[in-house]
Amino acid sequence: MTVPLPAGAPSSTSASSPTTPSTATPTIGFVSLGCPKALTDSELILTQLSAEGYRTSKTFDGADLVIVNTCGFIDDAVKESLDTIGEALAENGRVIVTGCLGAKQGADGGNLVASVHPKVLAVTGPHATQEVMDAVHRHVPKPHDPFVDLVPAAGIKLTPKHYAYLKISEGCNHRCSFCIIPSMRGDLVSRPVGDVLNEARALFESGVKELLVISQDTSAYGVDVQYRTGFWDGKPVKTRMADLCEALARLAEPHGAWVRLHYVYPYPHVDEVLPMMAEGRLLPYLDVPFQHASPRVLKLMKRPANTENTLARIHRWREICPGVTLRSTFIVGFPGETEAEFEALLDFLREAELDRVGCFAYSPVDGAAANALPDPVPEALREERRARFMAVQEQISARRLKAKVGRTLAAIVDQVEGDTAIGRTSADAPEIDGVVHIRNAANLMPGAIVQVRITRSDAHDLHGETVG
Ligand code: SF4
Repeated sequence: MTVPLPAGAPSSTSASSPTTPSTATPTIGFVSLGCPKALTDSELILTQLSAEGYRTSKTFDGADLVIVNTCGFIDDAVKESLDTIGEALAENGRVIVTGCLGAKQGADGGNLVASVHPKVLAVTGPHATQEVMDAVHRHVPKPHDPFVDLVPAAGIKLTPKHYAYLKISEGCNHRCSFCIIPSMRGDLVSRPVGDVLNEARALFESGVKELLVISQDTSAYGVDVQYRTGFWDGKPVKTRMADLCEALARLAEPHGAWVRLHYVYPYPHVDEVLPMMAEGRLLPYLDVPFQHASPRVLKLMKRPANTENTLARIHRWREICPGVTLRSTFIVGFPGETEAEFEALLDFLREAELDRVGCFAYSPVDGAAANALPDPVPEALREERRARFMAVQEQISARRLKAKVGRTLAAIVDQVEGDTAIGRTSADAPEIDGVVHIRNAANLMPGAIVQVRITRSDAHDLHGETVG
């Protein structure tokens, strides 16, 4: 039995083909089978769909996806449900299954619906309005109505209007011995790539000129879902860092906006994004938290990619994109760190010539495994090593900044005060890196990206004036 839509639910007027769904208000086709309990589940889902601004339709044709609420009580009902799912897949192709049959096991112990129809997008059991809505949101993002929604499409942001953070995943699969994030936030959960790209698009459309991609480990994006292929704008996109970066670069381009990557680990596949940086499609900037250079200390820290030859990787990145800015953070005085290992870290620093570096003297965090390691380094020595480390880095930073004097660089304006402005070049992430002090800036607005001729540098910042 196909249940008619409740009164008041708008019906579809879309006539687009099944393979090219409507780009206006998204339309969800709905088929409800089974008993009155299933009917009330259908009503709840349809109500929620309407409340969120989706159109609902009794037909598959022209719908952006189809929901089939199934019955699994008797054999005939199972057959009718499976046939209806097959019909919806053939006619539309994008199908979510809910209801009693969705909870049923097949002969092999797996989910019956998924084994008969492996192409369905999601399967839930009965009374699962929220799960169904989550699946709908993953595949057909919520329409936004600025007259109804109090929250702007880009969400509420605490950053200035011209830059925003884009979180692509939550949690972490690593177990670094000094860190308790995985015990607080759990294992890596990558956000669906379609959701991430929708958020990015809304941010660019709301005036964001610099997008800062963040997570606990950006290079691990998609590992938890085996790099699943998601959909965005009707096209397949893999849940994978390089594919996401490609899509973000394409989105940013018409807005003249920047995309900056944070928290990337030196895995081989990171090499794939360097050409995009060399072509100017992503900011030539990598924030890679190395934490140490001694293989033994990295092992004690249980750091990801601790067996990689980091210096070789850095050289490779600079070969592909000579202008890439490398930022990192380090911990000195980690339990067991010997003077020789600390010296090896300083040697690494001198050879790697990183542009931007933060350094922390190790401090035990409640609940971290590293607290139980033998041979703690006394606090005074930890601080002394930190000061020695920063002295070496300061010379490197000053030298690298000095090499920019006389060049003309693009800078994004953060603040304007009278005739001067504070901005950042591609080498400077907000809050954590240096700035460029800009003269002749009276006409500039925050968020403008301008050309600045660099006239002077100091240990951390640049100074210059606008060109043209
Ligand atoms: S420090 Fe290690 S465990 Fe902690 S969030 Fe980062 S990668 Fe994960």
